[in-house]
Amino acid sequence: TAWPTSKIRSTFISHFASLPTSPHPFIPSSPCVPLNDPTLLFANAGMNQFKPIFLGRAIPGTTLDGLKNAVNSQKCIRAGGKHNDLEDVGKDTYHHTFFEMLGSWSFGDYFKEEAIKWAWELLVDVYGIEEERLYATYFGGDESLGLEADIEARDFWLQYLPKERVLACDAKDNFWEMGDTGPCGPCSEIHYDRIGNRDASSLVNADDPDVIEIWNLVFIQFNRDESGSLNLLPQKHVDTGMGLERLCSLLQGKTSNYDIDSFRPIFAKMEELANVEPYGGLVGEADKTLRDTAYRAVADHARTLTFALADGAVPDNDGRGYVLRRILRRATRYGQQILKAEPGFFSKLIPVVVETFGEAYPELIENQANVIEIVKEEEQAFSTMLERGIKYFEEEVNDGKAKSVTGEKAFFLYDTLGFPIDLTELMASEAGMSLDMDGFNAEMEGQKQRSREARLAAKGLVGQRLELIAEQTAWLADEGIAVTDDSYKYD
Ligand code: ATP
Ligand code: MG
Ligand code: MG
Ligand code: MG
Repeated sequence: TAWPTSKIRSTFISHFASLPTSPHPFIPSSPCVPLNDPTLLFANAGMNQFKPIFLGRAIPGTTLDGLKNAVNSQKCIRAGGKHNDLEDVGKDTYHHTFFEMLGSWSFGDYFKEEAIKWAWELLVDVYGIEEERLYATYFGGDESLGLEADIEARDFWLQYLPKERVLACDAKDNFWEMGDTGPCGPCSEIHYDRIGNRDASSLVNADDPDVIEIWNLVFIQFNRDESGSLNLLPQKHVDTGMGLERLCSLLQGKTSNYDIDSFRPIFAKMEELANVEPYGGLVGEADKTLRDTAYRAVADHARTLTFALADGAVPDNDGRGYVLRRILRRATRYGQQILKAEPGFFSKLIPVVVETFGEAYPELIENQANVIEIVKEEEQAFSTMLERGIKYFEEEVNDGKAKSVTGEKAFFLYDTLGFPIDLTELMASEAGMSLDMDGFNAEMEGQKQRSREARLAAKGLVGQRLELIAEQTAWLADEGIAVTDDSYKYD
């Protein structure tokens, strides 16, 4: 192919690095696991690491201090938090839990006009994308946010595109936010029609796999604070993000992200380890046996686990560690139940991911042995329970009569067999069943209560009294009431 992933990535970087008026320095991707930011589960966009600049809080003397522009390719994970794509992965052809986001920035430097111009030039003149396939959106205004339509952005787009292909969209799609708080602003997006020779404007932002969003240009002007209000920032910034895999799919003439060069070796390895037919690219209803959905999900999850663990995350029982454990267990289940692979297959995919991405991300090579070790252990620990769980699901849960998985059965799978609730939910939906989530939550509550009672009983009377005091103290503190030692004297 004329456009291998590595060339697409480096071309993006050199395009912005070599702009005569605003040369963008290359700032390497931050870890996809932001170990230094407890408010963020995973890096969900390239802008995350630049948050201090947007907020005017870059620490003097650091790389960010005085930075005017930047360009890079950011390792992103969207599983949990405001941007959570886990439930789409495998089912569609253009969402991953792990993906690379090509990004370019202006920190109080240039604004909308240049951002749109340079994006257009890169896509059309450098990558050679047919203009007729492109659509641009702009923020159409929002009364509840008290914001007007972004007429400025619209007019800049009209210099390149006819008005039929410049579309106003609502805040859901065209007001970008990284999380519940933080820098944000109206955005303009570029969409691509894979079919061409038609009016595809009604398919933009309509979940159509043939008309996909490729690039988002965010005009950062606000910070959303804890109370939910938007505060104007002292400066205006540009923050752009383009999905590398999506761009590769169209430059390589593929209709699915999973058909691009960087996924091929992972699929080849899976096909070797699977005991079903090779990948056939079927999606949705057409994928009756779920074979291709499983191939896609497992390939995605192998990348996510490899990158996240190489960046220092570990599977765990809560927080981001539990997100990773859930993803790993989903992959293990897809592999063993649908692809009929032997236990242990998942860790065998790690070296292929490292081989494919090691040059661009050397940390994968450095940490490879450790990552394989952790994944092997996790996979092994779950495999025995998995077999029992699948059997239990087939015999006890999906007995041919029940329409819904009871809370009790979901809880048994969770508590005794280590099935995260989202995995049981996924298996239920594959079987055309619903799941009684309220019932499951009640079981969880019941268990908490029982273990609390057991703990109290084990402590004897004095211990019980102390625990009650501790609870009350915590409650008073939550309510903002100061607790002095004296308060223990009164009942
Ligand atoms: P979508 O509407 O397709 O879910 P988005 O609007 O959530 O995408 P942005 O937050 O605007 O995405 O991120 C910028 C770009 O990153 C998108 O235009 C897209 O190319 C890419 N991208 C976003 N989410 C994913 C994902 N889960 N997998 C692959 N690429 C993605
Ligand atoms: Mg999205
Ligand atoms: Mg979108
Ligand atoms: Mg978007």
